[in-house]
Amino acid sequence: MSTNNTPDGRTGPTAADVVAGAAPARHADTPPLTVTLLGTGTSTGVPVLGCDCDVCTSDDPHDTRTRCACYVRAGDLGLLIDTGPDFRQQALREGIERIDAVCYTHHHFDHVAGLDDLRPFFFDNPATMPCYAHPDTAAVLRRNYDYIFGGDPYPGAARVQLETIDGPFTVASRYDDGPALPVDPVLLDHGGTPVYGYRMGRFAYLTDVSRIPEPSYEALEGIDVLVLDALRPKPHRTHFSFDEAVATARRIGARQTYFVHMTHNVRHAEANAALPDDIQLAYDGLTVEVPAMENA
Ligand SMILES: [Zn+2]
Ligand SMILES: [Zn+2]
Repeated sequence: MSTNNTPDGRTGPTAADVVAGAAPARHADTPPLTVTLLGTGTSTGVPVLGCDCDVCTSDDPHDTRTRCACYVRAGDLGLLIDTGPDFRQQALREGIERIDAVCYTHHHFDHVAGLDDLRPFFFDNPATMPCYAHPDTAAVLRRNYDYIFGGDPYPGAARVQLETIDGPFTVASRYDDGPALPVDPVLLDHGGTPVYGYRMGRFAYLTDVSRIPEPSYEALEGIDVLVLDALRPKPHRTHFSFDEAVATARRIGARQTYFVHMTHNVRHAEANAALPDDIQLAYDGLTVEVPAMENA
């Protein structure tokens, strides 16, 4: 299922491959999760450099959005989704002390540029850290970060190990022999670029998506908390608009949905008031508890 020898090129799985074996039963033993939205903004971040619009100059802290990333605690395990350019500040803000693995959604700057800031997580624990990624994402990471992922890594480089995935996998502890966490990649379409969403237990994180392939919905059955891309009210070629995101959230049917990846066209208080109670905007630092499967 995973290999480190991914050739460049489109070797990606079909959605059906991704869904195979992704029945909710796989998550039966997953403990309750604590999910922290480290960043909730679009690729520029909000405020946007040089912009003096109402949102960029707002004194509501909810209108400050760093680039999207997410930290999941499952028992002792700590799982990071993406390492954007704000990762270091986010990790300091949330006091993150442990990372067992990184799940990459895709290769764009706003989701990977903080990769090198993983280095301190090896100072006290030299065990390698798996970085799970779609084959296309892995190919770009390998090319762009040759000094980390190449055959002759720079001394002191993060001891990260690319794991190309085409189906469900489990994340093991880097620290002890504690229980592993089952994770399902969920194939998404980001305006033609393949992106992985991730499901663990009753939580799913789906960022940077403009279309969900039909079979991927099957991997999202029984979700309690959903995090979903919702760029802005106006339609966009590579992200869900608010209307599209609301319709998608309704179809997936989570108890609670949080939107992420918003632009400076979105004022938090105003936009939230216009959304239903079970679909709200996330904000940086929002922490949510997700119940275990047995409570479904
Ligand atoms: Zn993005
Ligand atoms: Zn602005």
